[in-house]
Amino acid sequence: MQAPRVAALREDTERRVVWQGDWVKVTRVAFSKDLNSAKYGQLAEQARRLGRVRSEVWQRYGSINGAGLSDRTIRDIWMTEGTTDRFGVLANAWKETVRDAVADITANRAAAKAAVRKAINLRTSDRAKRLRLFSALKADIWAEDPFLSRQMRKHWKHGRNRTHNQIVVRSDQYRTFALAEGGDVWLAVPGLERRQPVRIPLNTTVAPTGTLRLILRGGRVEVHYQIDAGAVKSSARPAGDREIGVDKGYTEVLTDSDGQHHGPELGELLSRESDCRKAKNARRAKIRSVAEKARANGDHATADRIARHNLGTIKRDRRSSRWRQTVRTITFRAVHAVVDKAALVAAEDLTRTFTGRARRGRNVNRRLAAWTKGVTAEALASVSERRGSVLTLVNAAYTSQVVPCCGALGRRSGDRLHCTRCGVVWQADHAAAINALHRVGDPDITLHTSHQRVKSIVRERADRRPDQTADPGLQLTLWAESEVSERSTLINK
Ligand SMILES: [Zn+2]
Repeated sequence: MQAPRVAALREDTERRVVWQGDWVKVTRVAFSKDLNSAKYGQLAEQARRLGRVRSEVWQRYGSINGAGLSDRTIRDIWMTEGTTDRFGVLANAWKETVRDAVADITANRAAAKAAVRKAINLRTSDRAKRLRLFSALKADIWAEDPFLSRQMRKHWKHGRNRTHNQIVVRSDQYRTFALAEGGDVWLAVPGLERRQPVRIPLNTTVAPTGTLRLILRGGRVEVHYQIDAGAVKSSARPAGDREIGVDKGYTEVLTDSDGQHHGPELGELLSRESDCRKAKNARRAKIRSVAEKARANGDHATADRIARHNLGTIKRDRRSSRWRQTVRTITFRAVHAVVDKAALVAAEDLTRTFTGRARRGRNVNRRLAAWTKGVTAEALASVSERRGSVLTLVNAAYTSQVVPCCGALGRRSGDRLHCTRCGVVWQADHAAAINALHRVGDPDITLHTSHQRVKSIVRERADRRPDQTADPGLQLTLWAESEVSERSTLINK
């Protein structure tokens, strides 16, 4: 069995799941409930001031000059300079913000380093030389090497802070309490003045823990915090003991190699959202043109009123965040259902874009579809990790075109896949899931085998297999039989 491969997890905008060392953390979000606007305003002001702190960190240390400087060093420099008073925030607040901004810069630099590592491989094939360059890069002492520093300058674009609505609060800087036993939790965080905390009513009875990230959006405070994945209830559920292949669909979250569809409501959810957004955008465009016309005619009052009442983003953003949450729930539920059966899950690498494959569902908004694909990738990685199953990423080339019965390229029509050799008709997603499972441990088709090479391997293998006759009895057997025997013949070859 191959070693577990886990898709590189990235932090998405909601910072759901991140790897920290070997620990998987899951982000939970609590929301403020009926927070009064004075409190919100005060927190928003603090976040705005902390945004200036972030900007300063990015500006001074966000490029070559900042390489290797820790947040502690930067704090010491700033304290000596005595320039921190002008931020107008409490010391702990700006210090945590510096730490957070430095972490962002480090992530930004790590992305550049990945590109430079590629350049090193292209530059020399001498192992000792490569090793020296790699370790210099890793240790951030690339400034002394002309090649490395040229490459870093090329790939490390000077980033810029765009965050002006967040406050990071360390665990010892806030407290939580409930007004009644078992009631909703309140959160008291430092305000702009010492000993004058801001008390935020939350919509949950579960108190947040650890370092908090308060995000101020649309009059509401989002409290993001992380917990160990081990503490999540579902992780107690054991994984199954079988090997299951999956295919990412558009009308459902996943189809597995048993032919079972998981999360069938996804397709409807996607097309409805896509239609709704299209209609709303069209309406907004119309309203905007009315406002512009009014302004052109000198009627600023009307233009302002329209902008204020009809072109706001709060409701729109809340609606779309609710929609995203629904998709996440459906996706995670679907992946859990697969892991209920599986000790090993074979899936294509959904973080890579693959254009060679025929896609269905033209009307689905591409952006939404791409986003849900990312959620599925994240769910597969995090649920497998939490529940102790193995996620094996396989090459997806031609998985939806090869017929599992004869191993040849079938004829596709709609969501059906016809085998021209034995006449079996497959459901394309089901075939793709079986093929994904077949790819596990395939000696010739590995994750990075090229598309063309996969095609010729598939052809060669199909040619070597004896022709199957179009016997209706055989068709039925093949349709009904489990793929396990099929799979073992393939792998044992
Ligand atoms: Zn066949």
